Amino acid sequence: MSSFGVKMPSITTAIPGPASVAAMDVISETECPAITARRARRAATMGVASDDPIVWDQALGANVTDVDGNRFVDLTSGFGVALVGHSHPRVVAAVQKQSARLLHASGDAWPDITRATLLKKLLNITPAGLDLAILGLSGSDAVEGAVKSACLATGRTKVLAFDGAYHGLQLGALPLQGYKPAFREPFEGLLRQGLVTHLPFGSDPQLIEETVRRESIGLVIVEPVLGRGGMVPAPQGWLAGLKAAAHSAGALVGFDEIQTGMGRTGDWFACTADGVTPDLLMVGKALGGGLPISATIGTKAVMEAWGASKGEALHTQTFLGHPLGSAAAIAVLDLIKEENLLARVQTLSTILTNALVEAGFTVWGRGLMLGVGLNAASPPLAVSRELLQLGYLTLPAGKGLGLTPPAVLSEEQVAGFVRALRIATDRCA
Ligand code: PMP
Repeated sequence: MSSFGVKMPSITTAIPGPASVAAMDVISETECPAITARRARRAATMGVASDDPIVWDQALGANVTDVDGNRFVDLTSGFGVALVGHSHPRVVAAVQKQSARLLHASGDAWPDITRATLLKKLLNITPAGLDLAILGLSGSDAVEGAVKSACLATGRTKVLAFDGAYHGLQLGALPLQGYKPAFREPFEGLLRQGLVTHLPFGSDPQLIEETVRRESIGLVIVEPVLGRGGMVPAPQGWLAGLKAAAHSAGALVGFDEIQTGMGRTGDWFACTADGVTPDLLMVGKALGGGLPISATIGTKAVMEAWGASKGEALHTQTFLGHPLGSAAAIAVLDLIKEENLLARVQTLSTILTNALVEAGFTVWGRGLMLGVGLNAASPPLAVSRELLQLGYLTLPAGKGLGLTPPAVLSEEQVAGFVRALRIATDRCA
């Protein structure tokens, strides 16, 4: 595996520094407040006067540099995207080469050659039986592609999802999320009532079967490891039980592997390790190595329910199969294989887990999707904020701290992070 972006933190200004604060002033004045009202939210929840985020300037490997020149070690991979490392040289080279040839093609009308190459390579690594794909740009796109596909294939329009699940916030994906009702509530009037039923994550397959039958559910959608909901792996054997239950009551099964897929758990897909193949698989995030690209991949039987294109595509978007995203994803697929990244994820997972456990922390999760337990006196947001001061980027996930680092994170960076976590939790105690 290439080694790059493995420097230790270097903090030379107050955090956030003056350039970050100035940039946040501009953003606060120009962007919808629901997105950047961090100052107000954190001030309210944590009783601090000002807690602006740092503003990123550059990123390489596991390092992020802010506009004040402070260097951080990123244990988030930018929401799980940079599994291969930020700005991996092979991804950058592929994007540079592609951008000199073709920036944009024409979606469903005139595709470009990178799309053909990507589809072939992607379907090569997906579990057998998942044979046809719809490309998208975001995770929400991939989820919506699955909902539409299931509707066409089953003739049913209802979805069963699970508490704690996060499937995206675009209007089609929004009602599926069981992570935070507050995301849905203001838009309830825009959503068809009764469209989605939620059950607890890990529910008895018998209950799933009864619910599918009673509600005439067409799609059961699940994250094999709850990501934003706390890095919680599905109970052993549950996905197989869920699939059998859904199928026996006439529903399809969709695995949202937008966060777990593309090597994040140490296998190409979390479901590979579980030995369960869904009818629909959703990928995104790490697929593009930093560029926005996602996919809904289904069985032939499910995808053929769409019927052939009649000239005007029933499902497309302006930037579908974008050449830059496709070129980046091709590079990601190649380098995960050639640089043996799946094995690296497994090794790094063990190194990070052992270091945290030795330092007295509780750790759960799978591969490089780890949750770290904090005691009640140390709220995850406060610990994450202290870690930022020490040069480490983390995010809260469920009741703990969520870690989704890049696979290039070095042992020295792991040791530095664990030391910083001790300091941060002591400060918050
Ligand atoms: N599904 C899962 C499991 C996710 O983690 C996310 C993003 N965090 C999404 C869907 C939505 O992806 P996007 O934000 O790209 O729409």
